Amino acid sequence: MTKTEKILSYHGIRPTQMRLEIYKFLKRKQSAVSFSDLKKAFVQKSETNKTANRTTFYRNLKIFEDKGLIHQINDGVGVAKYAISDENAKDKYGIDLHMHFHCTNCRKTICLPNKISKESLPNDYEINNVNLVLKGVCEKCRQKY
Ligand SMILES: [Zn+2]
Ligand SMILES: [Zn+2]
Repeated sequence: MTKTEKILSYHGIRPTQMRLEIYKFLKRKQSAVSFSDLKKAFVQKSETNKTANRTTFYRNLKIFEDKGLIHQINDGVGVAKYAISDENAKDKYGIDLHMHFHCTNCRKTICLPNKISKESLPNDYEINNVNLVLKGVCEKCRQKY
């Protein structure tokens, strides 16, 4: 088994060709990938049987999200973006709690390495989703000025 196959299997996802490719595609990116860019890479690539391919693609993305392999980010630009979740950062609810950074210049969104602590939450409260986005100018864009 390859490393990617292992990661998928660990999440209870059967490693098909397309699933491995989607995972590797997201993993290679330094920033979150928009739904339309993902679709462009995986649906329009296949000339034969586009409808089946599109259905499979949607289903795979949903499975990845449900199993906590990837997460959706709403950075305020109006399109859903996806990024790989950090396997080592999951809390007992299975969530990788972290903030995001959205660059208002190049419009890229990245996952920030620092994790959010649940200490500030009152007892018996439970988090099951997090959508925090810091906005500003990224390192690369700042160097241009
Ligand atoms: Zn930037
Ligand atoms: Zn993230």
